[in-house]
Order: sequence, then structure tokens, then C-alpha cells
Amino acid sequence: MLGLMQDRPLLIQHLIDHAALNHGDTEIVSRTVEGPIHRYAYRDAQKRSKKVAETLLALGIKPGDRIGTLAWNGYRHFELYYGISGMGAVCHTINPRLFPEQIAYIVNHAEDQILFVDLNLLPAVEKLLPLFKTVRHVVAMTDRTHLPPDLKIPNLLVYEELLADKPGTYEWPEFDEHTASSLCYTSGTTGNPKGVLYSHRSTVLHSYAGALPDTLDLSARSVILPVVPMFHVNAWGLPYAAPMVGAKLVFPGVALDGASLHELFETEKVTFTAGVPTVWLALLNHMQANKLKLSTVKYAVIGGSAAPPAMIETFDRDYGVEVLHAWGMSEMSPLGSVNHPKARHLSLSHEELLAIRLKQGRPPFGVDMKIVDDAGKELPRDGKAFGDLLVRGPWITSGYFKGEGGDVLREGGWFPTGDVATLDPDGYMQITDRSKDVIKSGGEWISSIDLENAAMAHPAVAEAAVIGVAHPKWDERPLLIVHRKPDVVLDKKELIDFLGSKVAKWWLPDDVQFVDAIPHTATGKILKTRLREDFKDYKLPTA
Ligand code: AMP
Repeated sequence: MLGLMQDRPLLIQHLIDHAALNHGDTEIVSRTVEGPIHRYAYRDAQKRSKKVAETLLALGIKPGDRIGTLAWNGYRHFELYYGISGMGAVCHTINPRLFPEQIAYIVNHAEDQILFVDLNLLPAVEKLLPLFKTVRHVVAMTDRTHLPPDLKIPNLLVYEELLADKPGTYEWPEFDEHTASSLCYTSGTTGNPKGVLYSHRSTVLHSYAGALPDTLDLSARSVILPVVPMFHVNAWGLPYAAPMVGAKLVFPGVALDGASLHELFETEKVTFTAGVPTVWLALLNHMQANKLKLSTVKYAVIGGSAAPPAMIETFDRDYGVEVLHAWGMSEMSPLGSVNHPKARHLSLSHEELLAIRLKQGRPPFGVDMKIVDDAGKELPRDGKAFGDLLVRGPWITSGYFKGEGGDVLREGGWFPTGDVATLDPDGYMQITDRSKDVIKSGGEWISSIDLENAAMAHPAVAEAAVIGVAHPKWDERPLLIVHRKPDVVLDKKELIDFLGSKVAKWWLPDDVQFVDAIPHTATGKILKTRLREDFKDYKLPTA
């Protein structure tokens, strides 16, 4: 017997309609690429999203067509999220920090019909134009007065001109909730990037899960500033979850330096923010150097890479900010787990609680997790055994766009994350490594993340990375690569002694190399492939 409830599809356009009706005057504030702060409310955003849809129809766009965006976090990008997906097309967000060849590759692979481009990214697009095979129009996300006069993009359209003569009365179509809504390519440190194609249903379900108290704890009292870019897995879903709950949104634009962020946190009374560890490093340094405080921020989500313990402690002790350590991936929309302590953890000692907070957290309902050994046998959830982490759920990919990479799911519909993790009886998951990064020393595994965290706890270390280097006896041994803070004294011996109190003796790095900078991927993760390349002929002193 079937239930008798309505079969109303879960569609992204309903989120903005809901916000316009019930939170119509809740603000969306943006630091624009042009410079000034722009403010309007959900009611205005909904109307302009409809104008976007009307513009796309006028340009001949049909449902299913891919529309590219090369843009920072701002109100026009937000309108595109809703206007494009709402009319049934696919919003393909492109990371402008990728190498030009990679951008050309993914625009062509996605067969983008139109590219919407922020003002400061137009010169890059001008250079790439001859490589694009399917792009029919480029739209400058600005008004005519800001357009550089010498730009050589034929038939360049201007966003504000396109929207100006549209009525904004478009009636969103209703369609199958499984319809594709947006497309995001994985950062692809090896091989070509692969497209993850989200659906309306997966996006709306992911927003419900993201808003839960033990996930991101979002509500109509939240003021959300996503530092994580709208081209990095849809800013972790925040532009969808915010209108769902009626939260105020603050978009930082292109200015992600500590000073600009801090100013917005304070003037807009931000309560919730999210980003990768590298941006928080810059913010913390700025606040420390200028003796600044945070008066309203309650939560800072740290995800994308492991949150170093020193960062969790500094946010908490010096700024009264609770870090929500989160884990996920593009293939998971991205939320897989968020760390909130359980009630009985609150009476634990500082050290015991920190050990829990270092874990990547518990999955919300909707994400199933298990760990398996090399033969695919499930390992115990005892917080000790570690193995390949597999996930499944309604906002997790079933395969890449256009079948790239073939059949990716294991038996039972499990998606292999490529991460190595432990699970404990309380449901907490802890990543010990990317499977490619784990150091295999004499048949035993050494976690590069644990070593990095231990090194980052030294006050003179700005950033640390650990890679495995060939060793004649042990196969691989850890090499610690360190970027020191400015004007500090720190040598190898001091650092190894410091680590000696934190990790098992046989885990201690065989050597330390000091560098001027640690390379990062386009999404802010440590670029281990480059480090391995840089140190491929490196001879350890123990070899
Ligand atoms: P991406 O799809 O680019 O977001 O990358 C996803 C990968 O980033 C995951 O598979 C993890 O290897 C890594 N990652 C994300 N969040 C965390 C975290 N909190 N701790 C450790 N690694 C993380």
C-alpha cells in the first residue's frame, strides 16, 4: 500500500521562493568585485533570479544546457545559482584558480553555452576564448560603466543590461526532482578533472541535513559568511541552506585577506563562517598582529583539509569561537560529517575533549559510512582499526559526468572516498590520511595528517606537510616539510625533540626540510603531488 502524501518535487527554486515569502526582507550583503558593499534582501534576489531565467530563455538556452560561471562569492553569483537551475539548466561553477588549460578543458567537457564572468576575471577569459569550443556568449557580471574599454571579447554581454529590461515575473517550471541542477569538477591533482553532477533533489536534501543542529546549526538567527568559494562544491551548500532557514547571507567577494574578512565579520555581525584551514591561518595571523577580537562569530567551520589542533584551540581560547570540524568531498555535495561533542563529552578534560574535536565528526542522517580492509572486508567501529572509507546516500555521486572514470561504486552502492579513516562506537569518523598520502613504513602505516598536526602545534611553525620518501630498508619514511613563521628561530633538532613527546618514536620524521612556502591546490589543500615531485630524488640521511 502506498502512502497518500503529496508527491511535490524537491526543487531548488522553491528555496528562494520560500525565502522571498517568509524572509523577504532578510538581507544579502556583498562586497562587490567593483568595490562597494551591496545590500538587498531575499525578495529582490528572487526577482532578479527570475530575470536571469528570462535572460537565459531570451538567449535560447534550453533545459539541461550547461551555463558556466567564473565568479567569486557575491549576489549576482547567487542569482545565477537560482536563475540557471530554476529554469532547468545546469549551473556549472568553475574555479578561476585552476590552470588555464584546466579551465579550457572543463568548459569544453561540460559544453558550456554561456559563461558568466566576474569583472576581474574577464582578462583571463579573453585569453582563453580561442580554446572554448561551445561557448556562444560571455556575460560580464557588472554594469556598463565598470567595463574596461579595451577588452577584446566579441559580442560581450553585460549582466545589468540583460536584466534591466526583463520583467522578473517568470513562473518557475515544475519538473522531476532528479533533474540535474549544478555541476562541479573535482580539483584533479592527477589526471583530468571529473564532473560531479548534482540534482535538485540531492541539493535540497543536503540543505536539510546541513541545517540540523548537530550539522551546521543554521537558523533564521544565523548570519552566514561563506569564505569557501561558490565554485568549491557550491560553497558547501550554504547558498541553498541559508534561504531554506531564512539566514542573512554575507558574501566576501574577492577579498579573502584577514583584514577584509575581519571587517565584514564585525560590521555585519556574522555568527557563522566556513572555510579551509589556509584562510583561517591568514585571518588568525591578522587578528593576532593587530590585537583584534571577534564579537559575534559563534561558529567557524574548518573543512577541506584536517583542522590543526592549534587552530581549534586558538579560535576557542582567544576568540570564543567554536570550531566545527567538517569533512566532505565534491562527490558528496559535500557534507559527510561535522564534529559536535555529545552531552557527556562536555564534562571531559580539555585534552580529552580536544582529542574528540580533532576527529572529522559524525555523519548526519543520510550519510552511511563504513571502513574496509584491502579485501573489502568491513573493519570494526572501535576507533582504532583504520581502513578505506566508503560512503553512500542520496547526496553522494553514483558516477561522474559523461561516465568518466567508469563504474565508481562498489557492491551495495558504496562510493570509495579515497580516504583512510577510523570509526568509533559513538559514530565519530577520523581521517588518518588520503590513501595516496599514507606513508608505508616497513608494512605499517604512518598518518601524514597526525604528523602534520603535531608539527603545526609548534609555535614557530606556520605550516607543515609530511610526505613519504623512498627508503632502502623501510620502503618509505616520513619527510617533514616546514614553512616557518617570520622572524623565528627553529631548527631540525628542536622540532624533532618537540614531536618526540607527541608521536610514537618510529613515526618520527627521518628529516626536516625548511621551505619558503608550501604549495596548495586551487581549493587550498596542500599539493602533495608537487611536494613528492620536488623531493623525488631526495636522499634521507637515514637511507
Ligand atoms: P574536494 O572534493 O576537493 O573537496 O576534496 C575532498 C577531500 O578533501 C576528501 O576526500 C579529504 O581527503 C579531504 N578533506 C576534506 N575535509 C577534510 C578534513 N576535515 N580533514 C581531512 N581531510 C579532509
